[in-house]
Amino acid sequence: MIGGKRTRGRGRSRRIALKSEDEIARMRRAGQIVALVLDRLAAAARPGTTTGELDRLAEGVIRSFGAAPTFYGLYGYPANICASLNEEVVHGIPGDRALREGDIISFDVGATFDGMIADAAVTVAVGEVSRDAGRLMRVTRESLEHGIAQARPGRRVADISAAIQKHAESHGYSVVRKLVGHGVGNAMHEAPHVPNFVEGDAEGSPELVAGMTLAIEPMINQGSWQVAQDDDGWTYRTRDGSLSAHFEHTIAITEEGCEVLTVRAAGRGGGERAAARVEAGGQL
Ligand code: MG
Repeated sequence: MIGGKRTRGRGRSRRIALKSEDEIARMRRAGQIVALVLDRLAAAARPGTTTGELDRLAEGVIRSFGAAPTFYGLYGYPANICASLNEEVVHGIPGDRALREGDIISFDVGATFDGMIADAAVTVAVGEVSRDAGRLMRVTRESLEHGIAQARPGRRVADISAAIQKHAESHGYSVVRKLVGHGVGNAMHEAPHVPNFVEGDAEGSPELVAGMTLAIEPMINQGSWQVAQDDDGWTYRTRDGSLSAHFEHTIAITEEGCEVLTVRAAGRGGGERAAARVEAGGQL
C-alpha cells in the first residue's frame, strides 16, 4: 500500500527506524504470509470472480496464520486488500465487480504478524491480455527488480528511485508522481519516502544502512503520469484512462545487500541476486 499523498521533503527529515534481527525475523514471517496470499490471489483471478470474493479469500489465508490484514481499518480503509483494475493505479476497493477476460488487476496486500508488518503487490493478467498490457506488466516488474538491485549499504534511496525511473521511461512509460513507496515494519508507513522518480539533489537522499526496511513499489502508467482520485476517497486512476501496473516488495537492507522479505522461501544476500532469483522464479 502506498504512503499516501506525498509531502515534499518530509521523508528526509523524519527519523528512519532501524530494525533488530528479531524484528526482521517477524517481518520475514509476515512477508511469507503476504507472498502466499498474492500467489493465491493470482491463481484465483479468473473471469467471473468478483474482487469482493478475492478480498475474502485473502482475509481467510492471512487469519489462518494468526496474522491480521494490515490494511483493514487503516486510515478508515474498508477492505482487507486493494484490488485495482486496468486504468486504476492503486487503492481500488474490492466489491461486486466481476473480473473480465483481458483485464489486468493489481493486488496489494499487507499482513501484521506478531506486531510486525510486510507489504507487497503484484499485477496479473485475467485470462489472455493484450500484448501492450503484458508488456506494461513485465516492464513494471522489471523496474522493481532494478530498484531492488540498488538496495545495499552505501547507496541512497535516490539510487533505487533512479533505477526504477530509468527502466520504465526507457520503454516509453511514465512514473506516477503523486504516490511513493515507504519505510515499513513497526507501522505501515514509516520514513523514508521511496519515490519511483528522482527530483532535486541526490546528496540529500537518505543513505541506505543495514536494518532499514523499505516497501519499494513502482506504479507505472502506459500514458501520462497524472492520476486522479475517485469520489470514494480511495481509488486512484490514470487521468488519461491508460493502463497502469504496480509491483511491490518489502525488503530489509543487510550488511551485504538486501533481503526480499515478501518472496516465498525468502532470499538472503545481495539485492542483485535477490532480483535475479525473482526473475528466474517468474513471479514476485
Ligand atoms: Mg506500500
